[in-house]
Amino acid sequence: MDWNSATATDIARSIASGSLTARDVIGETITRLDRLEPGLHSFLSVRNHDDLVREAEAIDRAGTKAGPLAGLPIAVKDNICTVDLPTSCGSRILEGYRSPYDATVVERIRAAGGILIGKANLDEFGMGSSTENSAFGPTRNPWDEKRVPGGSSGGSAAAVSAGQAILALGSDTGGSIRQPAAYSGLVGLKPTYGAVSRYGLVAFASSLDQIGPLGRTVADTALLYDVISGYDPRDSTSVPGSRPATARSLDRTDLKGIKIGIPEEYFTDGLDPEIERAVRLGIEALVDAGAETVSISIPHTRFAISAYYLVADSEASANLARYDGVRYGYRDSQADDLDSMYCSTRQIGFGTEVKRRILIGTYALSSGYYDAWYLQAMKVRGLIAIDFERAFEKCDFLVTPTTPTAAFLLGEKSDDPLAMYLSDIYTISANLAGLPALSVPCGLTGNGLPIGIQFMGKPWNEPVLFAAGRHLEKRLAPIGCPGEESTS
Ligand code: GLN
Repeated sequence: MDWNSATATDIARSIASGSLTARDVIGETITRLDRLEPGLHSFLSVRNHDDLVREAEAIDRAGTKAGPLAGLPIAVKDNICTVDLPTSCGSRILEGYRSPYDATVVERIRAAGGILIGKANLDEFGMGSSTENSAFGPTRNPWDEKRVPGGSSGGSAAAVSAGQAILALGSDTGGSIRQPAAYSGLVGLKPTYGAVSRYGLVAFASSLDQIGPLGRTVADTALLYDVISGYDPRDSTSVPGSRPATARSLDRTDLKGIKIGIPEEYFTDGLDPEIERAVRLGIEALVDAGAETVSISIPHTRFAISAYYLVADSEASANLARYDGVRYGYRDSQADDLDSMYCSTRQIGFGTEVKRRILIGTYALSSGYYDAWYLQAMKVRGLIAIDFERAFEKCDFLVTPTTPTAAFLLGEKSDDPLAMYLSDIYTISANLAGLPALSVPCGLTGNGLPIGIQFMGKPWNEPVLFAAGRHLEKRLAPIGCPGEESTS
């Protein structure tokens, strides 16, 4: 097995047929993880090696009963609760915090035989687009260690891209799965709002947050999505009913007669011409597969960033009020009275970007400003959702770039929050409208950096998005692996 390019689907098949053991897979993964971690810093914590080996051996003993993820090493973003490793959210305020329970997605992964290998680095509480906002230092992009892996699920993306894990979970509030997937040459899905349980996901902006999978191929990503999606009575926003299985229907969906919408607002100023060229070639590949294109308008797109940063920050300011030194995590024990304890705990415990968000959100929600800011943003959110409903009367799904540029250099945008926010320009609308959206690799730039193409669908149309991704994968030359010569 070539570990640089091994897929979860191949490994699972080899384990099931007995040509590979879960013990071999975990051994190889631990070796790669240890070798590459000093350069990448993908993880905030990793499980004890002996425990990992014991778990793999138990899976080998269980044989075919072990489940669809049997023996696959999986990284989990560190804002998703796990009992056996801390959940810090990349924040000093939760440093060393241990959850008393596993998130539903983690329970589901374990029940399917997946091996939780470690907790992946992230921008503090998911706030960022580069993983540079982690209180514990940035993660680097395996394709070029001078560059960011994207964010906020940058640790998850770097781990899978470098083979330190074979699959990963991220969370996506405004693009945090798809943008790092695009920057790291991976497939990443932001599921329909309500498809995957948020029980055990530390809340950033509850009306936007969704957990989703990252993998090296469409089939791998679908495999993990099928395991984690499903109704959960412990999350009041989880939608009842079964989800259509995506992995099995991948090669059965024909694109003949499918209409793909090309929203004009996603191909304007600020889009790097190299990215545009690659995405247009991707669209041609879908047309070769039988799809037709229609030009679409999502007229309120230009308000999306402003609306998102008001809604997300307002919700964040409420969600983060619980970190006050009383119940969870860090407390400034030097303070003389309760008020100063609250203030200095939050002053010391939160990083700059988190404080900026809390200030913006508190302002937008405050009496006298609520109607002008928060309410207005919610109205724009409604208009964007209507734009998509209208677009889907004319087409089956939309195709856009995932990001306006490829991975940027570490430090390039750290002093310019607006420039950082603009790297999510194509991803946030799917969160505002609750739609599923998939990023799939779509070639490399002249510098050898991965490019992502995004498919946005109607609610619950994950199977169509995955199938389109699979058609694209079959038609485009593979981008290869980080550090290798491209095969294209
Ligand atoms: N980059 C966006 C933000 O900073 C999105 C983050 C996310 O999806 N968690 O809010």
